[in-house]
Amino acid sequence: MKKLLLAAAALPLLALSAPSVAPAQNASAQAEKLRDAALKDDVAFEIMEGLTTEIGPRLAGTEAEARAREWAVRRLKALGFANVRIEPYDMPVWVRGEERAEIVSPFPQKLVVTALGNSGATPPAGIQAEVVGFDSLQALEAASDATVRGKIVFVSHGMTATQDGSQYGYFGAARRTGPSVASRKGAAAIVIRSIGTDSHRNPHTGVQSWAQGVTPIPAGALSIPDAEQLQRMLKRGKPVTMRLTLTPRNLGTRQSGNVVAEVRGTDADAGIVLIGGHLDSWDLGTGAFDNAAGVAITAAAAKRIMDAGRPRRTIRVVWFGAEEVGGNGSNAYRAAHPNDKIVFVSESDFGADRVWRMDTSFAEANKPLADRVAQALAPLGISRGGAAGGGADVGAWVRSGVAAIDLQQDGTRYFDYHHTPDDTLDKVDPEQLRQNVAAWTAMLSVVANAREEIVKAPVTAAGQ
Ligand code: ZN
Ligand code: ZN
Repeated sequence: MKKLLLAAAALPLLALSAPSVAPAQNASAQAEKLRDAALKDDVAFEIMEGLTTEIGPRLAGTEAEARAREWAVRRLKALGFANVRIEPYDMPVWVRGEERAEIVSPFPQKLVVTALGNSGATPPAGIQAEVVGFDSLQALEAASDATVRGKIVFVSHGMTATQDGSQYGYFGAARRTGPSVASRKGAAAIVIRSIGTDSHRNPHTGVQSWAQGVTPIPAGALSIPDAEQLQRMLKRGKPVTMRLTLTPRNLGTRQSGNVVAEVRGTDADAGIVLIGGHLDSWDLGTGAFDNAAGVAITAAAAKRIMDAGRPRRTIRVVWFGAEEVGGNGSNAYRAAHPNDKIVFVSESDFGADRVWRMDTSFAEANKPLADRVAQALAPLGISRGGAAGGGADVGAWVRSGVAAIDLQQDGTRYFDYHHTPDDTLDKVDPEQLRQNVAAWTAMLSVVANAREEIVKAPVTAAGQ
């Protein structure tokens, strides 16, 4: 029923595009109409609800991620997209096992822990060792091997919530590189304070990669209250002994894949607009914010453009596989499509809260295009920011000079749920989700229909 109403609502919009209006004004008017209609969108929420309910957690390379791809194909076809397909690739797969941590002495009690991606394993019965604590990654790096050897390293550091989520880059280093530093110094294992901003007993997982030549060791994250508990114990100055059991496994090479769908454009020479998010999630929650939201927002917006009539440029929606564990899907996609004329990229991968800023990466020649997008977004409370870098999935295109827009979402509460068991559908605010769809619809309408060519932007250091 809802779909019928939406389809009916789209008809008067086309009728309003009177031929007497100048083309640019006409296009702007259509973007505004589509934007305002998208503020009543239900498609994005329906995608999120379906994916998180019918599939749930979908760790990269697992059978669950494969089910998610099949689900995605069915849903994207039902929504009316063209050329819906799975593009498979192979990847190494890591899965979680048992995970337990407890203080043996001097204050025996259990702590809540989860393994970080690619963590090494303890024996089934776990390991027992003294804990050596550090306030930061830098403090661990500065420590002598003798202080660390044979011990369980603990790195604590308080990440703070910010609207732009910028603290993640700095504090996230403890997760990304801390395990390799600890292993190099001979540590038996490492546990870090979760990279997050909540105060619940939910540990935050996330990927870490072993540096070249480093022996994998067990690597986990304690929930923030548990990390603070351990810190208080260490401050009392007595040796603290922990028993840690983490039994993840490497399954070897398995198949993963990207799911691709298109809104066909009218002008094949005008290039392709590539958008999307990632279909895989961590295995602890149902991956609502990260990243059912992103695939839902981008597909819902593309559908709105499709339902309003064929755009000039083809819009290619990619639901990337295996973003969480290292961007295997994005890498495979780029390798498989070296000659595609992709002129614009954008991704959504920062939850479901409102868009507040637009970052751009355009050539000077395309400044009028950026201005028109900014104008279409301003009524949604979106201001102009700095340089767009893409994200984990489309950043490589941006770094090679492909034009991009980042619709930056409010990240104030994103790291309360990020990579935890608490990343579930109930956290989503449907009104903020609709604002995202409206922003994406307006942006896509302007970019996909722009009459000018979209040319390569100067390559900057912004993409990261
Ligand atoms: Zn993500
Ligand atoms: Zn993630």
